[in-house]
Amino acid sequence: MAMAGTTLRTRWGSVFTAATALALMAVQTGSAALAGVTGADIAASPADEWLSYGRDYGEQRFSPLTAINTGNVAQLGLAWSSDLDTARGQEATPLVHNGVLYVSTAWSKVHAYDATNGKLLWAYDPQVPRETLVRACCDAVNRGVALYQNRIYVGTLDGRLVALNAATGKVVWSVVAVPNQHDYTITGAPRIVKGRVVIGEGGAEYRARGYIAAFDAQTGKLAWKFHTVPGDPHKGYENKAMARAAKTWAGNWWTVGGGGTVWDSITYDPATNLILFGTGNAEPWNPAPMGRKGDNLFTSSVVAVNADTGAYAWHFQETPEDRWDFDSDAQITIADVVIDGQLRHVAIHAPKNGHVYLIDVKTGKFLSAKPFVPVNWATAIDPVTGRPTVNPDARYEKTGKPWLSAPGAAGAHSWQPQSYSQATGYLYIPANLAGFPYMAAKGWKPSAIGFQNATDGATVAMPANTQIREGAKAMTTGALIAWDVANQRQAWRVDQPSPWNGGVLSTAGNLVFQGNAEGNFVAYSADKGDKLWSFPTQTGVIAAPMTYSVRGQQYVAVLAGWGGVWDIATGVLAQKGAATHNFSRLLVFRLGANGQLAAPPPPSKMVLDPPAPIGTPAQIARGAAQYGRYCSVCHGDAAVAGDLNPDLRHSGVIASAEALRLVVLGGQLHSAGMVSFKSALTPADAEAIRAYLIHRANEDKALEAKMAAN
Ligand code: CA
Repeated sequence: MAMAGTTLRTRWGSVFTAATALALMAVQTGSAALAGVTGADIAASPADEWLSYGRDYGEQRFSPLTAINTGNVAQLGLAWSSDLDTARGQEATPLVHNGVLYVSTAWSKVHAYDATNGKLLWAYDPQVPRETLVRACCDAVNRGVALYQNRIYVGTLDGRLVALNAATGKVVWSVVAVPNQHDYTITGAPRIVKGRVVIGEGGAEYRARGYIAAFDAQTGKLAWKFHTVPGDPHKGYENKAMARAAKTWAGNWWTVGGGGTVWDSITYDPATNLILFGTGNAEPWNPAPMGRKGDNLFTSSVVAVNADTGAYAWHFQETPEDRWDFDSDAQITIADVVIDGQLRHVAIHAPKNGHVYLIDVKTGKFLSAKPFVPVNWATAIDPVTGRPTVNPDARYEKTGKPWLSAPGAAGAHSWQPQSYSQATGYLYIPANLAGFPYMAAKGWKPSAIGFQNATDGATVAMPANTQIREGAKAMTTGALIAWDVANQRQAWRVDQPSPWNGGVLSTAGNLVFQGNAEGNFVAYSADKGDKLWSFPTQTGVIAAPMTYSVRGQQYVAVLAGWGGVWDIATGVLAQKGAATHNFSRLLVFRLGANGQLAAPPPPSKMVLDPPAPIGTPAQIARGAAQYGRYCSVCHGDAAVAGDLNPDLRHSGVIASAEALRLVVLGGQLHSAGMVSFKSALTPADAEAIRAYLIHRANEDKALEAKMAAN
């Protein structure tokens, strides 16, 4: 919206004052945009454009563009930027077609810009109710849109799949794509396969039963659906795959859904006509309370189905009997690689559990698994079957002790897209070296609201447990890892002080681009990992960059905006990061540009000034447990929040029993997204939570005073 060299912080108000002119322009631009993208176009993945979430169907995120390269990347500068109206985690990869850039932002909004100068062509807001956040584990994020013919497709946090006119942003159709809007969310990018829109869902920390589904792109009608975990055995199974999967379960998993959600990776392979996708954790995390036993197929797996029918083809389970939240939802990349002297058509997958897997795309045969970060939950991987040998100490529900796992629930690699360079043969992995403490909750029962993980987050987060808390913190850093796929070993790595860095783009210009938690957008040489260029983004970057070319001019675009996960972006581990403030923007770069961002507002120094302690130790412990289960997902473990949600140690609401009750039980802040928890919590619980929050605030105030004295 603002040109290079001028002030780039533009308010939405100034955009909409020109709404009429923009609408006219959109119609005019639209006639060109209506040329229509086909499945063949996506398969061909033209060099100048970016037509699907992972660029090509194999999701390599490797651009053949070379105008920006190692020789001139130092001259890269800000061409244009657009301030976003949602200060939450920004995870989307923009698409570009016919000179128009389409991107989704937090709260599932969609914007279309002139890709050369940032002029806003249209904006769409699905008006997601803010209380949806209480059933979303990891912020109000959205990872991208799909483009097909003359339409843009977006999944919304509250479970709708919406088709928009690509020229105007007007809704063409909208369907509820989830079984119900209480237990399911959508954060992933839809993919287009043979005239259908393929999408999954989130919710394996709530009460979701995972599935992948395909909808007719013209009408929104459901074409097929494949579940990832069996449902209620008394009702019979939908297919043979479900009957088979049910033999690997015990207990009454279906009453809480079972998990296995398909919240990110969906990769279509035209060569085999298979859709490969990753599945989430089994639920609840702790298997003991629901009597969960066995491998629990098809959770924490890569699964392949027939693209026409959704019929089961094969599966490979990466983490049997998951109890660590080891989702296998990280993006799946397909490439032809010579392995042990043989050309293989392989799926390359680096999921949360810390190993790079190579799987034969056609058969699902396991080829290789190698750890890319320190791993302590498994002591070995069977070289023939790929099955891990689980460290007995990692079965925390059996030992009854806390287990400090590497990697942990945030994953060695989560949704942040990886990139595979056809030039170097390296897979670039945005890796977390993240420790996480697990402890089984005592006497846990499912509830109607909140996280259903049956672990005790409160005890392990308490400052009294210095060893566990500080241990997790000490184990937690980040790294950009270049992985030599053919030789199954690390080629180079860049160590990063914080975890939760951005997704990756590689180009034929021998470049790798990545934003990071410290608030920089960086270019490295793809072959060696030399840092060649950097731009200060003022906020942590988690999204993946992309690149495109219009009239011979190459651009690189990335969304900036910190957030997106509860155990790193908030809480104790958040103190590790350097740029937890959120300034959400789309940033677009080209050679020779010299745009500047306005200086960010000075950070406000929050001073802890809590009321005097209240409550008995038993009350505080009860409050800690309830806080850990119902509040920590948004407000941070040990009551240490990032800046996405209120830090309750500083909140005035803890000064008064009635004020806190009105919010927690009375739903007074419902419209802001803070729903009533009266279905799970009593007035005595609310008062116990207040006692815990005051206790925590006083504890940290004393700590700050001690540190100031030293
Ligand atoms: Ca999960």
